[in-house]
Amino acid sequence: MRTIFAIRIAVVVGAMTMLIGAADAQNRRVLFPSAEQFAASAEAQRIVREARAFVGDDLEAEYSIMCTHTGPQRMALARQQAGLPPLEPYVVEPTKIFDNLWFLGPTSQGAFVVTTSDGLILIDTLNNTREAREILLPSIEKAGLDPRDIKYIVLSHGHPAQTDHTGGANYLQRTYGARVAMGKPDWDATLPAQWPELPLANRDIDLVDGSTITLGDTTLRFEVSPGHSLGTLAMMIPVTWNGESATVMLHGGAVQTPTRADFEALERIVNEVAIPGNVRGLLNTHPGIYQDTIGAMDTIRSAPNGPNPLLYSAEQAKRFWPMVVECARARVVALEEAAGG
Ligand SMILES: [Zn+2]
Repeated sequence: MRTIFAIRIAVVVGAMTMLIGAADAQNRRVLFPSAEQFAASAEAQRIVREARAFVGDDLEAEYSIMCTHTGPQRMALARQQAGLPPLEPYVVEPTKIFDNLWFLGPTSQGAFVVTTSDGLILIDTLNNTREAREILLPSIEKAGLDPRDIKYIVLSHGHPAQTDHTGGANYLQRTYGARVAMGKPDWDATLPAQWPELPLANRDIDLVDGSTITLGDTTLRFEVSPGHSLGTLAMMIPVTWNGESATVMLHGGAVQTPTRADFEALERIVNEVAIPGNVRGLLNTHPGIYQDTIGAMDTIRSAPNGPNPLLYSAEQAKRFWPMVVECARARVVALEEAAGG
């Protein structure tokens, strides 16, 4: 059953959009070139054509998301920019997208739970205490898991004066005594800019490049991939699917890399971690940013023993990651040209 709570979400999305606008205005951050700037850059277009070579006959959908002037975007923003009416978000049926990884929460913005031999790692916490209590915890229970087993909470990223991924963490930290981890630059940026009525979690674990968190039989590895925020995390999560082991990346920030330094951080993570580590998937707590995640989850729920649409083959991954990097390179080149750099 789909739980429709469109009005509430519409208000939240509206507020978030305003806040994102405000944050961008404050920081004067441009996250991607305009369509005109992207098309006008001969160098960017040359790189896009190179990226095209990685697509083959099976990564067309990914290419069409990655190699645009915006790059991957939240569904709501992408639809808004395309002049399409908003989709009504709903709370998904908790979905075991891998044997040890669940997606929970609204289709607009959810959370993941990693199950381990010694408890749960929760990734992201929705917007606020109410959503943590009324949406996240019931979803965890519906998945057959016990919220009292949450040992770690990892926040994919945080923005100053915004709580869209971090809002439930304070309550969950107080209620379950879970340890809370976030990228060090995002703790630094968000703690001084809290809303008094929605305090952040107490600072606990600072994650930096190469940090790991081990719980029971599972170790997550983290890299800082700035751009969407200063401390956005790229998390390597070991998963299994039908007995096969693999690693997937959960990237908190839509692989947005508006500066050369942000881009080079992403390029390093791909070339030094994702490709050598045979990372075979890319996830985000906003479904629909990188792929038709909602459709993929429907497929997984209806055929839990079938092929996993969120998992690339090793051969596909070897083409997917360079495509991600080259599309990001094209955007930063276009931005630099537009800035006269
Ligand atoms: Zn964000």
